Amino acid sequence: MKPTLPERLKPLDTISPSLASKALIDDGCLFRILTQGGSNRSETTDMLPASIDGIIGTVIHKVIEWGYRGGHSGRDRDISDAFDQWDKIIDEKEQNLSDDKINRHLLPLKDRKNYFKKRGRVCHHANKISQEIRVLEDGTDKSESDMKNRLIGPEIPVQDKISDPRMKGRIDLVVSDGGNLEIFDWKTGKILDKEGNLKDPYKNQMRLYAALLECKQKNLDSDDVKFPRRGVIKNPLTGSKEILCEEGLDPELCRELLKDAINIYEDINETHKKDDDTDFLMDELAIPSKKGCRYCSIRPRCRVYLKELENWMGDITEDLDDIEIQDVIGRFVDKHRSESRSSKGAILLEDDEARRWRIAGIDLDAERNEAIEGLREGEMVGVFNIYKNTRCDLPEYINLLANPTRHIVYDIESMLSR
Ligand code: SF4
Repeated sequence: MKPTLPERLKPLDTISPSLASKALIDDGCLFRILTQGGSNRSETTDMLPASIDGIIGTVIHKVIEWGYRGGHSGRDRDISDAFDQWDKIIDEKEQNLSDDKINRHLLPLKDRKNYFKKRGRVCHHANKISQEIRVLEDGTDKSESDMKNRLIGPEIPVQDKISDPRMKGRIDLVVSDGGNLEIFDWKTGKILDKEGNLKDPYKNQMRLYAALLECKQKNLDSDDVKFPRRGVIKNPLTGSKEILCEEGLDPELCRELLKDAINIYEDINETHKKDDDTDFLMDELAIPSKKGCRYCSIRPRCRVYLKELENWMGDITEDLDDIEIQDVIGRFVDKHRSESRSSKGAILLEDDEARRWRIAGIDLDAERNEAIEGLREGEMVGVFNIYKNTRCDLPEYINLLANPTRHIVYDIESMLSR
């Protein structure tokens, strides 16, 4: 199993607000945006196991959207319809996962912690929404052909220009409240940073949506263009929400941000015109950072990142007080099982400074970890999705623990060869 990027990448068709919002923070990585755009995304294989919370998060999004569409159509629905909808989406997800070597071990989703609690909470919420048609003051009874011109309702498509758009996205929900526009974005993960503030990428995403909704009204030649008054980032699971308004959603600030995002799009495509070779583009556009790479799904194949990772590992002291990395690479030394019949065990690696790293909790027999079987001493290995091992303190090692469902082991040399 070898994670692959296409050997040649296509230019970006458009950039999405969610991807651009990450690149707008601290000069974020542009290569990631290119690989996640359009057909490049579909030609890139999954390299890291998915997070269960992420998978359930997409199901929640769809069920909430279904709730709004229920209200939108005005049809009578009840709670059993919401549960049917949830189960149907879960069945589709499970079918996809069962065909996927990297993620098959996550099945069945129903066995995961708090599954039925989440299902109940979300379905009740979606059912309640579908009864409250009042949030959709406009846009009811529109034909499919009019759907893309809607300004109010769930899943509102937005783009900066009618023809040859550079930025395109969908707003989860737009509501008209007394003539003022409000935009909603559902988030099922943590929305606050360590300091308790709304995360910067989420603020930027909301600002880009606001600017794009204004563009849409202008593109439709509206006589009464309104800039959204409020942006609400809401967790439909917990009900918690954060609101951006006034200074936080200042129209000038939002328009400037849209211009910056479009510049990013143009910079990427200008670089692409020089050469479409993936490794060339990686060298030109990849900007590794501990924060930015944390959620990047192509880390195992990004040699710019892997090089930087070695430097970050070099800065780590043995007491591991401030471990900020989530992967390790090094020369393979050995592996051993916890118990003779257990599939779990540890892998030992050595870095360039001859320090030994011990990563426990590895599923040595897992299908996704097939690279372990053929490893020889001295070969470069990467173990992805690890954290500090607080249960083990073997003095001669830097002790790490693999994330139970998300870790994966790769033979780095074969992976980086074409
Ligand atoms: S791993 Fe980091 S540097 Fe590489 S593409 Fe992803 S975000 Fe960019």
